Amino acid sequence: MRVIVVGAGFGGIGTAIELHRHGFTEVTVLEAASGLGGTWRYNTYPGAACDVPSHLYSFSYAQRRNWTRLCSPQDEILRYLREVASDYQVDRCVLPNSKVVSCSWDDRRCVWTVRTEDGASREAEAIVLATGQLNQPALPRIEGLDSFAGHSFHSARWDHDYDLRGKRVAVLGTGASAVQFVPEIATRVQRLSLFQRTGNWFLPRGNRAYPKLVRALFQRVPRVQQLRRGFMFKYMEALTATIRHPSTYGRLAALRSALFMRWQLRDPEVRRKAWPGYTFGCKRVLFSSAYLRTLQRDNVALVTDRIVRMDPAGPVTEDGRTHEVDCVIYGTGFKTNDFMFPMEVTGVGGHSLREAWAGGAHAHLGITVPGFPSMFILYGPNTNTSGGSIIFFLEQQIGYLRQALQHIQSSGAAALDVRADVETASDREVQSRFEGTAWTMCDSWYRNQAGRVVANWPGYMSEYRDRTRTLDPTEFQLYYRAEESERQGEPAGAV
Ligand code: NAP
Repeated sequence: MRVIVVGAGFGGIGTAIELHRHGFTEVTVLEAASGLGGTWRYNTYPGAACDVPSHLYSFSYAQRRNWTRLCSPQDEILRYLREVASDYQVDRCVLPNSKVVSCSWDDRRCVWTVRTEDGASREAEAIVLATGQLNQPALPRIEGLDSFAGHSFHSARWDHDYDLRGKRVAVLGTGASAVQFVPEIATRVQRLSLFQRTGNWFLPRGNRAYPKLVRALFQRVPRVQQLRRGFMFKYMEALTATIRHPSTYGRLAALRSALFMRWQLRDPEVRRKAWPGYTFGCKRVLFSSAYLRTLQRDNVALVTDRIVRMDPAGPVTEDGRTHEVDCVIYGTGFKTNDFMFPMEVTGVGGHSLREAWAGGAHAHLGITVPGFPSMFILYGPNTNTSGGSIIFFLEQQIGYLRQALQHIQSSGAAALDVRADVETASDREVQSRFEGTAWTMCDSWYRNQAGRVVANWPGYMSEYRDRTRTLDPTEFQLYYRAEESERQGEPAGAV
């Protein structure tokens, strides 16, 4: 069975490893960039790091005892992924500079044709779309954006050749990325104007390098590292509880956050501006012990007036003021609702995924979509987490899709397709579980324009693990190739 994986981030590499370990040797990983790494290759902004502890933000089967600190910086995570790919010899499955533009299903032959930007096409019996939710930088829709005469770039495409020293800089956006790079650049620039649309809830993040003794403990004492991972798992599940129960646990967490923020924000004017006006956990809770202090630096201005347009000189705010700057940095996040688009994906009968998802993305357990046989999505709809590790979710999805491929093989079938009624019911159940949770209490990138939560899983990591642990064959229909069906006297397609 040939399997094409699209994307060589944690999801794609993890899939190649799992499939190799289970005897699927014809795995090709097509990667748009010039090498593996995914989001950790692209996001190189100063201070880029993961705020999920590395003992949990890593594959369960490739644990490390030598993490330098609680939350690893970008280069350490990228190095880890490269090492794991090399250790399991799947780095050679990766075809770099291969941007996939379309995947189309052939009903009769039961194969996928995957086309890349260079005009090449490849066939596979199964495809795994591992492009993730955070791969396409989003620029704000602001009038005259292109008219800015200075330098500009997005945080996920940081321009390291541009020297920020002594420059007047505008940063748009105050999400998880900006919160990491703003403290780093504030000490270098002449003046920093930080444009905030919505304030955030903060929790402290001390992330000093582990002392020698602690590192030695992880290295030498068996099980310490494992216990640490277990503890982190529970800690993250507790964070999810605060979002699922906003009027009880959520209030306690908000109080903890408010005390921290009050302590950090001594300047009453900055405090007023930075304070969030929505329920704790509705947007991503940010972990930083440096950001709020940075807002109070003399060379930093927190601007909460709305930007009405961009002028050649810089952003113009609703009070009529032009904020003259040399450089604009967009910390405005990603086109998260687009998932793998603009890639064209067509399934049974030539129907497009774009049409199937017109009302918002949905997939059974975030992995399979009816009418798209043997297509598996990683980090798909409703599998993002606000309190947890995406690597953990990816591992469950990968194990699940591997079982699906094994089921196809053992049944002598050509492909498998999730039943529409199964997907509809599971989607309805997932959506109903958002009721009363903090996720529904404000607008965020977790929701689409109609207000449907399309990004996040509504529950705990452990629940997701339990549901994906064992594939239920009765939830799927099998497809047989036309010639096979004819031999058996059946119509081609699903049986
Ligand atoms: P983000 O969280 O989506 O933040 C984007 C920021 O830009 C928000 O402050 C948003 O304001 C603002 N914005 C968007 N459009 C705007 C507009 N038209 N005008 C003004 N402001 C605008 O993006 P991100 O910071 O890049 O983070 C994305 C995700 O990546 C995170 O949620 C997280 O899952 C992941 N991430 C994780 C880590 C980590 O340590 N694990 C680090 C970085 C990123 P509003 O809030 O008002 O929309």
